[in-house]
Amino acid sequence: MNRKRFIKTGVLAATLAGTGTLSAAHDKKKKQKVNPNSKPGFPLVISTWNHGIPANEAAFQALQQGGSAVDAAEKGVWQIEADAKNTSVGLGGFPDREGIVTLDACIMDHLGRAGSVCFVQGIAHPITVARAVMEKTPHVMLVGKGAELYAEEIGLKQEKNKLSPEAEKAWKEWLKEKQYKPIINIENHDTIGLLVMDKNGIMAGSCTTSGLAFKMHGRVGDSPIIGAGLFIDQEIGAATCTGLGETVLRTLASHVAVECMRNGYTPQDACEEAIRRIIKKHENYKDFQVGILAVNTKGEHGAYGIHKGFNYALHQHGKNTLFDSSYYNG
Ligand code: ASP
Repeated sequence: MNRKRFIKTGVLAATLAGTGTLSAAHDKKKKQKVNPNSKPGFPLVISTWNHGIPANEAAFQALQQGGSAVDAAEKGVWQIEADAKNTSVGLGGFPDREGIVTLDACIMDHLGRAGSVCFVQGIAHPITVARAVMEKTPHVMLVGKGAELYAEEIGLKQEKNKLSPEAEKAWKEWLKEKQYKPIINIENHDTIGLLVMDKNGIMAGSCTTSGLAFKMHGRVGDSPIIGAGLFIDQEIGAATCTGLGETVLRTLASHVAVECMRNGYTPQDACEEAIRRIIKKHENYKDFQVGILAVNTKGEHGAYGIHKGFNYALHQHGKNTLFDSSYYNG
């Protein structure tokens, strides 16, 4: 599919997006499905994909050293941003169509404060900039040049766009055909979304990504958008998403999951409802993956994906474990 056709298909997909009513389950009855890996209790850290294991480790260490939930949320994903070998987070990420790595990140705390940066170039730790936006400015979101200038203002150096050898190779390969097709579960869209509860149950969350590989220049997905890639409500719970961002943006899936929990859903039912809505609104759901994680105020969690392959790491009760998520299977 060439670029023009990709744009056309994208518009068509959006136009065709389902118009049906919400799933029959929603709002009619409170469901009570429990994730078999879920036990109440905190502190806990839960995060998306394999890289969740080292991220949880770093976040937990921050808590153990007396850090706040926000410190842990930042430190956890910072670790993954720093990994030059990671091709979906940080400056080692796969670039856009023009061969430029652009990064998105957000963070949210228990007071409902949030900070976010989008379309940032040459900044190794967008999560740190997002945190500074939250804590030191009256704003929630800075984008592009403005975010980069602000990063410099808080002492972060801007690096020249330089692709990692792996990213450069993959981009050059992609240039041969310039085809765009979101591929399920391969390394080209694997954001880290991380949720923390400290020993008192105080929540925070973070999300950071290089976004979809070979995206259009300027494209921003769900990951830095509060309510889409991440949402926290200390009274209810928290959720974070990974996967094809456009579909999460259209449904605000993290916010949906938290609102479902507000209506009495377990975290597992909340995740399943959020995924069901994405499926309902996208008849091409077989072609893309989305995964979601949620926790409630008891420290119980839920996880769900559209397809097999979504996994997550949970650090709780002294163990840091990688679990396979259940999935829709349609
Ligand atoms: N959600 C990210 C985006 O669409 C990608 C991912 O999670 O893999 O930018």
